[in-house]
Amino acid sequence: MNIHEYQGKEILQSYGIVVPAGGVAFSVDEAVEVAKQLQGPIYVVKAQIHAGGRGKAGGVKLAKSLDEVHQYAEELLGKTLVTHQTGPEGKEVKRLLIEEGCKIEQEYYVGMVLDRGSGRVVLMASEEGGMDIEEVAAKTPEKIIKIAIDPAVGLMPYQAREVAFAIHIPHSLINHATKFMLGLYQAFIEKDCSIAEINPLVVTGDNQVMALDAKLNFDSNALFRHPELVAYRDLDEEDPMEIEASKYDLTYINLDGNIGCMVNGAGLAMATMDIIKYYGGEPANFLDVGGGASEEKVTEAFKIILSDPKVQGILVNIFGGIMKCDVIASGIINAVKQVELKVPLVVRLEGTNVELGKQLLRESGLPIVAADSLAHAAEKIVAQVQ
Ligand code: ADP
Ligand code: MG
Repeated sequence: MNIHEYQGKEILQSYGIVVPAGGVAFSVDEAVEVAKQLQGPIYVVKAQIHAGGRGKAGGVKLAKSLDEVHQYAEELLGKTLVTHQTGPEGKEVKRLLIEEGCKIEQEYYVGMVLDRGSGRVVLMASEEGGMDIEEVAAKTPEKIIKIAIDPAVGLMPYQAREVAFAIHIPHSLINHATKFMLGLYQAFIEKDCSIAEINPLVVTGDNQVMALDAKLNFDSNALFRHPELVAYRDLDEEDPMEIEASKYDLTYINLDGNIGCMVNGAGLAMATMDIIKYYGGEPANFLDVGGGASEEKVTEAFKIILSDPKVQGILVNIFGGIMKCDVIASGIINAVKQVELKVPLVVRLEGTNVELGKQLLRESGLPIVAADSLAHAAEKIVAQVQ
């Protein structure tokens, strides 16, 4: 789960990390009200969307007066911001962060991410932070320092200090930077982050070490123990079909292709997507209905696929283990009764109660193409949508 910059900064502040004074605004008037509470004379008006690259896309504005705050807030609210992270469709700006402008001496990068290869949290840092960090990573990767953190002892102060020296934080501020990194690590662990990225971390003219930007991502599987994080969820930023799917505990990810997939088990779902591509097709989604899905869940899953206007054909690939094939068949029949089926449907069922499942589908009178193997099923659905 992703949250907004202003929310990330709230969390970081509670771990002793210094951030500029500021507040969120949902309207132009609120933006000016927030700015009035700040010191000035420079304010920063920042679009709050779940994507980075805002600075380069015109989503971060420096205002030199309350009038300019008004002007920029008006300009940004309701605007669709297209950054290198939003995709071409962009994201509509519905919230702003209004904060104090600070005098930047130098911009650094500090990030933490879970490295699945080593099974450790890796701390990355660079003295070339700011808006071009992707270019630094691509062209001069040696300028990014990485250390793996031992989970048994956590980030050690000496390690953080070494990193601070390595990225050339001014000597008088090494302790501040060390405290910053230790705070970030504590937040990362306690909040079950998958990413915590501060770009830029800045050293200011008045000798502060501050987070000017904050990107925190959380492990969705750990949200059950963080109601305080769930409260930060912004449904406007999420795919409506994925929100619908999450209500039924379905693992659904919307993709770009035109073949809707309903599969049980993440591995089988991946294999199904692979084989669709092998036969020259493109999957419209990843959907794992899970091992022991109920008829209701299957019905909802099928309805979600059918509601996707991209979908020109559907492939159902179910291996009945715990899940019984007749439950799947009933779910499909139910869903089609509720929503009109206007696209070809290929079904491959195998496993527990397969004969009963096939019989239910045959007797339903629905125009279903039965397939006996996965390859066969993929070949058929690809042929049908072409
Ligand atoms: P993004 O990463 O989405 O482009 P940032 O929050 O990193 O957005 O802002 C982009 C740039 O704007 C920063 O690198 C920094 O130079 C400048 N900036 C952001 N916030 C402030 C602030 N409070 N004071 C001064 N400059 C800022
Ligand atoms: Mg940034």
